[in-house]
Formats: sequence, structure tokens, C-alpha cells
Amino acid sequence: MRYISTRGQAPALNFEDVLLAGLATDGGLYVPENLPRFTQEEIASWAGLPYHELAFRVMRPFVTGSIPDADFKKILEETYGVFSHSAIAPLRQLNGNEWVLELFHGPTLAFKDFALQLLGRLLDYVLQKRGERVVIIGATSGDTGSAAIEGCKHCENVDIFILHPHQRVSEVQRRQMTTIFGENIHNIAIEGNFDDCQEMVKNSFADQSFLKGTRLVAVNSINWARIMAQIVYYFHAALQLGGPARSVSFSVPTGNFGDIFAGYLARNMGLPINQLIVATNRNDILHRFMSGNQYVKETLHATLSPSMDIMVSSNFERLLFDMHGRNGAAIAGLMDTFKSGGGFSVDEERWTETRKLFDSLAVDDAQTCETIAEVYAQTGEVLDPHTAIGVKAARECRRSLDIPMVILGTAHPVKFPDAVVKAGVGKALELPVHLVDLLEREERCTVLANDLKAVQAFVSQHGNRGKPL
Ligand SMILES: *Cc1c(COP(=O)(O)O)cnc(C)c1O
Repeated sequence: MRYISTRGQAPALNFEDVLLAGLATDGGLYVPENLPRFTQEEIASWAGLPYHELAFRVMRPFVTGSIPDADFKKILEETYGVFSHSAIAPLRQLNGNEWVLELFHGPTLAFKDFALQLLGRLLDYVLQKRGERVVIIGATSGDTGSAAIEGCKHCENVDIFILHPHQRVSEVQRRQMTTIFGENIHNIAIEGNFDDCQEMVKNSFADQSFLKGTRLVAVNSINWARIMAQIVYYFHAALQLGGPARSVSFSVPTGNFGDIFAGYLARNMGLPINQLIVATNRNDILHRFMSGNQYVKETLHATLSPSMDIMVSSNFERLLFDMHGRNGAAIAGLMDTFKSGGGFSVDEERWTETRKLFDSLAVDDAQTCETIAEVYAQTGEVLDPHTAIGVKAARECRRSLDIPMVILGTAHPVKFPDAVVKAGVGKALELPVHLVDLLEREERCTVLANDLKAVQAFVSQHGNRGKPL
């Protein structure tokens, strides 16, 4: 499989190189040159397979030529072996024909484990083969950091540095990062805010001289392997609800358009999906596009669903590329306009075509809490605020009651107690068994000034399993 850039100017890469690449050299994102397509018979024959076996069948075409089947199978068995629920991604019924796909049974209790557990193992496999080491530097306001650290903690060939804003992440989220020890794991608390952390990561990609030749790898959702891993659970859910003979709809809480883009790919790979609902919080650039054909940046608002607090949706460029007949020059043009401060609309025809599949809703904090309370009253289930946004959007935008509606349950509610308390849900939430003593565990973290040079010096001092690069 070869991968091409959404801006048309960067060289095509194979899977191995795409795994290690961040942005393409032309500033674009990598996508498969040709998407695999499965027949209905083929998809139907996968019913009842264990999750890792299904994952093998769905993802195999993407890694062909880079990872032999037997090795890939082994990696997948290990990856999904660490999940705490035997179904890996169980479906829970909320209402008539309405289901939550629980994607929070991985080590850090959010759906990001599906991709980052795999990414860590794939990186280590490829690096072992090449005899190389890499450094990961990532910024987090919560979920990504812990999932990336958990995913890389066993990697022999990866040193990971995760920056979080000092005293500005919740205690549970901080401890999910700082209580994992390893000579290749480095938590850095920056005396600044999340944007300062993100800016440092960006600047580190732009000038990598402090790494003395060691490669820097991205773990945010621009990394193709993360999207790839998320395609699988759309197949998994549909197969349990009568697919592919029956079509299924999905409502997806999203910020960066990563998770829902995976659903769009699943459909293009042959899975009958009737409707995809983009569910955002008050940071609603995607909703404004889907409802009014305007892609314009606005100011950032802090919400009760912080993992979707974004101004710009990085993966949306991947959809735009398809909307424009995969014309890289057209995308480069749109993105230039956008970067220089202007928003854009797309041709009416392209937008109408896109809207045949996608609907959207922006849900504010008050509605989020109302939905948590409503679902608790109806079912006794406590939803996390991100999932609640998905439920609200599903209920508002649903086109057909005959088609099963699946809401992606992106996090365990225990990670976001503020919203649950605000919703007035009385039930005390307990940490799952593997995290019960989280609040007593020893922590390891280095506090650094909001100073790029200090952070880069720290990385070069510790980037080789705790030793200097
Ligand atoms: C990251 C995250 C999201 C948003 O994911 P996208 O890739 O932006 O679609 C939603 N919910 C939770 C809990 C998350 O951690």
C-alpha cells in the first residue's frame, strides 16, 4: 500500500515510512492511494470473529508490503489483549435501536487506547527491524498523553516526552500519566497553558537540531496509523447489529475529525453506513461547516468536554481532499486561504453531496449535563460528557428509527467527574479495578519553565533511555 499527501506535492510513502512521518513535507496529511474495498460476502463472513481477528482482516491491506501477516496478527493479539472487557468494544443498548459502543475499556479509559496501544507496538516493531530509535514529543490536555505513554511504555526503541500544563489537568488525568514509570517515559509539566505546550511541540518539529539526528515522531491524530486502527470498531459494531445485510448509523463526538473520518473510510471500504453524525461541543467549526458550508476559525472556549476543545480540525483536510476529487493543488489553495486568516466555503454541489452522509449538531455544556441526567434517569447509565454529546446529537439528527443508531462512547465517566457532578447524577463513580489505587501511587514528573530551550535541553539530556542523545 502506498500513501499520498492531501496537498499533492510530497513523495508517496509506504506504510512503514508513513508510520514514522508526521505531516507530509508539503504540509499535507497522508492518506492511502487506493482504499481497499471489501465485498458484502467478505464482510458477512467476519461475523463472530474475536476483535483482534477482525482487526487483522480490516487493516491487513493497509500494512501489506511492510508487515508480514504472522507478525501483524501477533501484534494485534497483544494490543487488544490488554483491554479489560472480553468483548473489547461492547455495545450497550440505551433505547429502542439506540446503542452506545463502549470504547473505554482500554488501560486509560478512553477510545484513544484503540489506536495508541497499536501505534506503540507498530513503532517498536518497525524500529527494531531498522535498528533505529525515535523520540516522541507530544502535548496533552488529558487523554492523549496517558494513552500515548501507556502505548509506548514497553517500547525498546522509543523515548516519549509528554508535556502537560502544570496544575491545569485533572488529578486523575495527571496521575494516569505520572504514575507510569520507565526509563523511556518522561512527563514534563510546563509552567504555562496547553497552547504553550503545543507550540513547543510544533517548534520542535520545525527545528530538530537539538535531537542530534534522532527522528521525531508524531502521536497526534494526524498519524495515519491512528485513523487506521479506528476503522475496525465501525465494522465490529455493524456486524453485531445485523450488518452488512442491514445498514447502521453512527453518532461521533469529535473535535479533530479523527474518529468520524475513520467511520467515513469504513463506509468507503464497503460497510453499509446510512448516516454519520458529527457531534461537537461549543467549539463547533465542524458543525458550522456541515450546517452552513462555512469553515472559519473562531475563539476557543473551555467546556466540560475538554477533549473536544479545538479551534481547527486537523483531520478535516482528509475529507476535503476526497470532496475535491483528490486534487492536491485545490486543497493546498484552500489551506493557504485558511492559514492567512480567511475561512472558506466549498462548491455548493460538493457540499450537498457531503451532506447526503453527514449531519451535525453543536451541544453546549448545559445540554450536555441535561443529557447525562436524562440518560441516567432512563437507564441508570452514567455517560461521560463527550459521549453525552454524541447521544444528544443522535437524538436530534436521526433520520430513521428503523436503522440502528450507534453512539461512540469515547470515555469512561470517571475521567470527567465535573460534568457528572454538575449533571446532578448521584451515583458515586468508582475507578476500575486496575486503577483503584491510582490516587495513592507515587508520581514522577519534571516541572520546567515555559521555555523552549529548557525543554529541548531536557529532551537531549534524556532522550536515549534516560541518557543523553
Ligand atoms: C480525543 C477525544 C475525542 C475527540 O476525538 P477526535 O479524534 O477529535 O474525533 C472525543 N472524546 C474523547 C473522550 C477524547 O479523548
